[in-house]
Amino acid sequence: MPYTVALTGGIGSGKSTVADAFAQLGIDIIDADVIARQVVEPGQPALLALHQRFGDDILLENGSLNRARLRQIIFSSTDEKLWVNNLLHPLIHAETQRQLALAHSAWCLWVVPLLVENGLQRLADRILVVDVDRETQLARTMARDNISREQAENILAAQASREARLAVADDIIDNSASPQAVIAHVAVLNQRYIALASVKDRD
Ligand code: ADP
Repeated sequence: MPYTVALTGGIGSGKSTVADAFAQLGIDIIDADVIARQVVEPGQPALLALHQRFGDDILLENGSLNRARLRQIIFSSTDEKLWVNNLLHPLIHAETQRQLALAHSAWCLWVVPLLVENGLQRLADRILVVDVDRETQLARTMARDNISREQAENILAAQASREARLAVADDIIDNSASPQAVIAHVAVLNQRYIALASVKDRD
């Protein structure tokens, strides 16, 4: 497995922006949200299992997963939430390992928004947290997603706190300044991770 740096941060903190900057430097990116969608695509065994358990309601007319319905089910029953997690988490984990094993860059960036919420810290060699103050986070989320302040606040309230994320960080990128400042910081971190990866290789 390549040396793996987990990148996390709250909604609108700048994970995609930071990941793009690392990708520009040739670093392979593995995206937990993309994998979570891949494992429930039509034709995947997980979608079949969800269909068998929850019936036709769980599918949209085109045969893809009805995410709104699944969210409803999970929200209203802890047992069903557990069942769904027991189904999907091992599949997501296996697919993550598979993609990591295919990576070619000196180290690999694993973008995982819910790292702290899902207790996945130990799966990474190092944790990088992208951090902004709450006001900046709210403003950028509202602008990007065209949602109200209340909607943005509700999403923030459902996520881990800024403090909880910072508590697990090995490195922190402050994304309150310009994108150019972030790019410069990313270049420094890349050198650090290349060095750490080569030490791990020698072990
Ligand atoms: P996340 O992936 O964590 O949800 P994004 O990378 O999409 O966050 O950033 C949220 C929004 O803020 C996007 O519209 C992005 O273009 C903008 N943004 C990110 N970093 C900066 C920055 N340093 N300055 C100004 N806007 C930024």
